[in-house]
Amino acid sequence: MAAKTSAKSEKKTEKKNEKQNTWLTYTDKQKKEVFAFNEEYRQFISGCKTERECVKEAIRMAEAKGYKNLNDCIAKNTKLKAGDKVYLNNMGKAIAFFLIGSEPLEKGMKILGAHIDSPRLDLKQVPLYEDTEMALLDTHYYGGIKKYQWVTLPLALHGVIVKKDGTQISVCIGEDPADPVVCISDLLIHLSAKQMEKNGAKVIEGEDLNILIGSIPLKDEEKDAVKANVLKILKDKYDIEEDDFLSAEIEAVPAGPARDLGLDRSMITGYGHDDRVCAYTSLAALLEMDKIDRTAVCLLVDKEEIGSVGATGMTSVFFENAVAEVMNLQGDYSELKVRRALAASHMLSSDVSAAYDPNYPAVNEKKNTAYFGKGLVFNKYTGSRGKSGSNDANAEFMAAIRGALGKHNVPFQTAELGRVDEGGGGTIAYIMAKYNMQVIDSGVAVLCMHSPWEIASKTDIFEAKQGYVAFLKEM
Ligand code: MN
Ligand code: MN
Repeated sequence: MAAKTSAKSEKKTEKKNEKQNTWLTYTDKQKKEVFAFNEEYRQFISGCKTERECVKEAIRMAEAKGYKNLNDCIAKNTKLKAGDKVYLNNMGKAIAFFLIGSEPLEKGMKILGAHIDSPRLDLKQVPLYEDTEMALLDTHYYGGIKKYQWVTLPLALHGVIVKKDGTQISVCIGEDPADPVVCISDLLIHLSAKQMEKNGAKVIEGEDLNILIGSIPLKDEEKDAVKANVLKILKDKYDIEEDDFLSAEIEAVPAGPARDLGLDRSMITGYGHDDRVCAYTSLAALLEMDKIDRTAVCLLVDKEEIGSVGATGMTSVFFENAVAEVMNLQGDYSELKVRRALAASHMLSSDVSAAYDPNYPAVNEKKNTAYFGKGLVFNKYTGSRGKSGSNDANAEFMAAIRGALGKHNVPFQTAELGRVDEGGGGTIAYIMAKYNMQVIDSGVAVLCMHSPWEIASKTDIFEAKQGYVAFLKEM
């Protein structure tokens, strides 16, 4: 388990980040604006706990600002011109928004990208079983988690069940205060002598992540009567049979809304800041814009936490196809021009950064660490060991971004994910860089990344949005 590590490896000569705390730079009016923006974000992550829920809400937000479904434009062969706003939905789990610029697409785009999948527990395809008159759901964890963090906390079930005839049933149990919640049990401390000797990765093992969902047996049922009773409830409430789990995607996530954190309400604790905090701020920045020189894009993708694979992940050709469709409706399509458009683009690949944690100082090198209250974070490179797997953005591009943010007085900081050789992580940046475009990792610093409840600072969330707006305006 994560024991506190000693800070003795920190050299005395290392200087603390001297950047000013952004809270000190606000007028009362600006502070109000920061809090108001964050309240909207808090509601967003409280309601959007799956990639599908994020896509649905993002569409609602965008349509309110005049965005139209690109598929409708394709069907009607509607020509796209400067100032038009369109989106393309990828299977309900990823989405691209375009604000058409006055310049030809060939000149490149300004892309804000983030991911909307978060670590969680997925129900297995055959999840339901009974053991000693308790009904349980078997899960398979998604993304990198410390499994011991997911026991004993109230969980909600979010997702869809698709019946054989294609009917889709949305499930959301555990969010309304009147709803029941579900939970994974843990061993009582009194009998944990052997468990407590295991290392952190093994204290709770993957197959132990079984969700308790019922304990009343159905009357006159001879075998697995508790399971039968759960099935009866599912039939009555959702009209689903046990077999329907075969074609379902149900995610167990921490139940309840995100909350203001701290007596000064300066932070938010919530599920899935990674990476909905960057997704929301990227989209909010785009939705502030009505006209632009080079086409602006907000790209929200799925499957980042498991390697950006699959049709809805960043390695899919979905985005490339979307660009081709947009170009075609501008009456300017050619394969060569699509390639030029992608190669000439600039992108902020946004994902959360590890914030400095005073409880665990030893994993960071203080000069190159993200801090709460210091604004949007840029990671020139991510990766692990000798920058392995990293995109490593160009100095020229970072310089242009410094210029853009400076012009709009947006506070920012630069960071690495931990000390050299301490660990590491990856994002979608390298995948976009394959098109030969300029891309850099940026985002919001969070504490307890990938835990059920992550923490982010309200000023950093607000300044991320400001930074994205500056990027769209200046790059
Ligand atoms: Mn992550
Ligand atoms: Mn992430």
